[in-house]
Amino acid sequence: QQDLKSRLLELNKMAARYFYYQLRSENGRQGLEYLKSRQLSDETIKSFGLGFANKYSNDLYNYMKKQGIGDELLRESGLMNVDEAKGMYDKFWNRVIFPIMDVNSRVIGFGGRVMGDGKPKYLNSPETPIFDKSRNLYGLNVARTSRKKNILVCEGYMDVISLHQAGFRNAVASLGTALTTQHAGLLKRYTDEVVLTYDSDDAGTRAAMRAIPIVKAAGLSAKVLHMQPYKDPDEFIKALGAEKFQERIDKAENSFMFEISMLEREYDMKDPEGKTAFYNGVAAKLVEFEVELERENYIEAVAERYHIAFDSLRKLVNRAAMKG
Ligand code: ATP
Ligand code: MN
Ligand code: MN
Ligand code: MN
Repeated sequence: QQDLKSRLLELNKMAARYFYYQLRSENGRQGLEYLKSRQLSDETIKSFGLGFANKYSNDLYNYMKKQGIGDELLRESGLMNVDEAKGMYDKFWNRVIFPIMDVNSRVIGFGGRVMGDGKPKYLNSPETPIFDKSRNLYGLNVARTSRKKNILVCEGYMDVISLHQAGFRNAVASLGTALTTQHAGLLKRYTDEVVLTYDSDDAGTRAAMRAIPIVKAAGLSAKVLHMQPYKDPDEFIKALGAEKFQERIDKAENSFMFEISMLEREYDMKDPEGKTAFYNGVAAKLVEFEVELERENYIEAVAERYHIAFDSLRKLVNRAAMKG
């Protein structure tokens, strides 16, 4: 098993090199143009080891054969599709390639994006003996050395790369999977604070809501960055630049206050009954703060935001506490 893992790592390294050189060859011209159109610099393209998978779907396979690699190892690598009729052929073709690295900068998998609007937009390596999506975060190999006070957790490859290029080398992504307990534990090794910088659409908002308790359970403090009116960090940076993004980081919302804002959406705040139900819901959440001073600080923050009396809200919280 150990031997298989090291052979897979070696194979991935070869594949990453192959893709890397293809991007710089005549074959990869369209890929390079695509990456440039997304405003990535040569330096950025190089430092993330971006590459290109050629148009023909047996290109990598043939290359690996020439290198004397056996079918069995190729099958285990996740780099090939296996089809009864067609046999084995490249999983990635005619896509720009993002090598995925672990914290020690070893290539454990790949992502590939179509150049334009085709579907699926991204393809990712399947889980393999060396690629466990729930235990790896894209960009963490760099983010861990960034010496910033927090780590920005976003959704995708392009977000991480854009952020790093703009100087936010503390950005990582969980690549289309929900943030797991293992991810949070991994983050805890390198920081005490996570800023959730997910997309501003419904999917991103829901992902943030699910990530908050997981991040907190790992003993990290969680904040949520306000991305509006832009869709994701990549689009934000392109539109407003790094300075404005830094302002948004500085103003990132406490995760509890973010949860309260989301809760508010479920009630009709123009109706006295709806409003009361909302405050009761808030009180039920405030009860969860066990340290009295902390609880009072949050009562104060909520009271201030909704322009209600501190004492009224505290009474509601005490009542919720008694109900248990
Ligand atoms: P881009 O800016 O290149 O259009 P994005 O990162 O904004 O991409 P999203 O649709 O927000 O794209 O997706 C976020 C992440 O989720 C992607 O970076 C990718 O890791 C993953 N993802 C998106 N679409 C797919 C897909 N069809 N299959 C697998 N993973 C996907
Ligand atoms: Mn998204
Ligand atoms: Mn996005
Ligand atoms: Mn995007």
